[in-house]
Amino acid sequence: MGRKQLHVFFFPMLAHGHMLPILDMAKVFSSRAVKSTIITTDYHVPMFQKAIQKSVDAGLDISVRGITFSAAASGLPEGTESLDMVKSEEMLAKFVLGTIMLRDELENLLEELRPDCLVADMFFPWATDAAAKFNIPRLIFHGTSTFANSAGESLRRNEPYDGVSSDSEPFIIPELPHEIKMTRGQVSLYERKKLETETEFSKLIKEVRASESKCYGVINNSFYELEPDYVEYYTKKLGRRAWHVGPLLLCNNEVEDKAERGKKSAIDEDDIMQWLDSKPQNSVVYVCFGSMANFTRDQLHEIAKGLESSDQDFLWVVRKCVDEEDDSEKWFPKGFEDRIKENGKGLIIKGWAPQLLILNHESVGAFVTHCGWNSTLESVSSGVPMITWPMFAEQFLNEKLLTDVLKIGVAVGATQWSRVNVEVLKGEKLAEAVARVMVGGEAVAIRTRAKELKDMAKAAVEKGGSSYDDLNSLIQELSAYRSNN
Ligand code: UDP
Repeated sequence: MGRKQLHVFFFPMLAHGHMLPILDMAKVFSSRAVKSTIITTDYHVPMFQKAIQKSVDAGLDISVRGITFSAAASGLPEGTESLDMVKSEEMLAKFVLGTIMLRDELENLLEELRPDCLVADMFFPWATDAAAKFNIPRLIFHGTSTFANSAGESLRRNEPYDGVSSDSEPFIIPELPHEIKMTRGQVSLYERKKLETETEFSKLIKEVRASESKCYGVINNSFYELEPDYVEYYTKKLGRRAWHVGPLLLCNNEVEDKAERGKKSAIDEDDIMQWLDSKPQNSVVYVCFGSMANFTRDQLHEIAKGLESSDQDFLWVVRKCVDEEDDSEKWFPKGFEDRIKENGKGLIIKGWAPQLLILNHESVGAFVTHCGWNSTLESVSSGVPMITWPMFAEQFLNEKLLTDVLKIGVAVGATQWSRVNVEVLKGEKLAEAVARVMVGGEAVAIRTRAKELKDMAKAAVEKGGSSYDDLNSLIQELSAYRSNN
């Protein structure tokens, strides 16, 4: 028949937590003989170009095309190119409008290259109509767990937080396969309808939810064995068409792929590896809160105190402090940096860390995480137990999956959903959670479960594994769709 190769467009939100998994997804599709084109803005093209070079050299059909994001036209400061640079609700609204302006150029590329399918980020609900114009299916990439998608839908449908008397009174999320409790304070403000006036972002979130039922289906960066009850719930009870093809990050086998994801490490990777090499197996607590979260100086001070008093070795990635942008060091407890340098207990990375490389190191014994889904999956795939410290987005739901369902995480005790760090948790709370995960019988049980999940993750993406097979069925279905349309 000589039909041409299946061609898929991949279009991520301008945020590292979305660009990195979609980059991996494009690599995985191209390794299955699908022509893969990543669409991103000009600023991010070099990052993708560099990251796919090895696949290109290996003869895979993968490429990147740039479109223009105009910060100025959206009323944003020059250089605002990704979500981590957005510091306020007002900027967020402008950023959303800026991404909507990408539509014309995306449609030009759809016209020019005529792909067979558009995999577009959840944050681009309008992509469904753009794909429909060219008579091709649009798949949604959420970038989170199927648990969070399921629990989030239950919260929206049932609004169980309406019946509680305070932000701290627990309620049960209805209809889920497990009895999961949370509090109103932990529910997203956008979902809680607590905002007095609609913002561009809350409008967008509504459109995102509406577009889910209109699109062809959902690709999830998760795997069946991790959350089987929720894959069943999501596909059978909620009736969503979904393919589980993760963990996508496992396509990165070489050290260099793991070392430089998105940005260059703030300190030399070899120095980090040497420091980790000098530590016993499972002894280091790795602390990092993703690409977007910023803490107040009081909270950073408490984290430092907690880590020091836990008496464990730690590797802490510190981003800029929200209220002290230009001088982030004043909040360290007196003599903290000198002490940890002298006694070798801690290493601090100010800026970007080679997270995947770190989590893969055998001396890392626990991960203090904000429960962003990529960080969570990276930890699961490395067999590293977690200390959970969610802040916003769907992070509180991912926490429940880790602590209440999978039981590979211990909560620090965050109670307030907020994009800006409003709650200051005491250092003792962190030290207590670290002790539970690192020392004693509970720690052994948690570690054993985490190691089992690591093996399951690896098996899922290998030939014949659940994710491998699910991707095969998706590719077959897309090929059949093309033939019939
Ligand atoms: N990341 C990294 N180095 C850092 C911070 C983050 O490599 O210093 C990566 C991390 O490994 C993950 C992504 O950035 O792949 C963050 O995604 P996640 O979903 O965990 O959180 P988000 O940044 O979206 O809140």
